[in-house]
Amino acid sequence: MNTLLSYFRDLEPQMVQWLMDLINTDSPSDNKPALDRLARRMGDRFGSYGAAVELVPNPEAGDHLLARFSGPDARGKPLLLLGHLDTVWGMGEAKRRPARLEDGKIFGPASFDMRGGTTLMLALAHYLSSGRGKLKRPLTILLDSDEEVGTRTARSLIEKEARGCRAVLVLEPCLPGGAVKTARKGVGTFVISAGGVAAHSGVDYQKGVSAIQELAYQVLELYRLNDLELGTTVNPGVFRGGSRSNVIADQAELEVDVRVATMAEGERITACIHGLQPRVEGSRLTVTGNMNRPPLERNGQMIQLYREARQLAAELGIDLQEGSTGGGSDGCFTAALGVPTLDGLGPDGAGPHALHEHVLVESLAPRAALLTQLALNL
Ligand SMILES: [Zn+2]
Repeated sequence: MNTLLSYFRDLEPQMVQWLMDLINTDSPSDNKPALDRLARRMGDRFGSYGAAVELVPNPEAGDHLLARFSGPDARGKPLLLLGHLDTVWGMGEAKRRPARLEDGKIFGPASFDMRGGTTLMLALAHYLSSGRGKLKRPLTILLDSDEEVGTRTARSLIEKEARGCRAVLVLEPCLPGGAVKTARKGVGTFVISAGGVAAHSGVDYQKGVSAIQELAYQVLELYRLNDLELGTTVNPGVFRGGSRSNVIADQAELEVDVRVATMAEGERITACIHGLQPRVEGSRLTVTGNMNRPPLERNGQMIQLYREARQLAAELGIDLQEGSTGGGSDGCFTAALGVPTLDGLGPDGAGPHALHEHVLVESLAPRAALLTQLALNL
């Protein structure tokens, strides 16, 4: 067996323990004390493996964590490893559904997205501290605290760290079977509000202006923007308004999710949504929102990095496949800067954000070996 693989086979019980501990630690995106605690704990771990650790204070959400490894020989452009500390699960979820090992799968909140990937980062740090392999370039691990809510506070930090990097490796979940993600859709969120005039539906029907009627027209307009062939989807996912059935609604609101495969489509859809015009006489329309994550476009740079990774994986006996997803990640920001980005390097599993979410134990060692192989050789 390859020496990296056998190292991580031996480390597997420890990785299982790390993963279960992480699953059993709540850290919702909106809970600063919990996120700060986890950032400190992870910082201590990476520090004990020889990293220079920096907690980046964040008054608006949880602190972000930077852990830098740079041996005496580490020169050249750095490598950046990206992950997030926050989860979509609320406080108390870990107690309700603690980590559970069953049939070779580890179940529990955020196991797949992305306690598994975080575990691989610890495994890599463990390997580096063993002195078995030397880094040829500086390596930075960045764990942010608000990825699950759009990376509002961490985006500039991620961009600053990514600029000038050799490559960015993102430890988000892989595709089923272990394929990495070389294309992701860009994501936008928009809110469209309509204002009308309230009136009694029986007494003063004609004096009223219905905000609901207005938005009904806009919903149809929004559906016309879909272009499945280009990978563009527009989803009015929330529609609320009005107060009572016998009142003409003077207020209504739409929340819209937009996904695009290219920047150009993102610009086109943004312009269309912001250009929506009221259709009902006397009503007002306000549009807020934007594309908040650019797409990860499968361009020449991405393909080149994937090919190199595939070659390095083959040396471990791993046949590394690629694929695409409609979900966004922090890798979208770094790819948009023109930094080669490989996403979906986490362990195999299924069910991100779902109750059956899990990680396959047998994938931990090969994925840790793959990550380490990339970190040492790219
Ligand atoms: Zn994630």
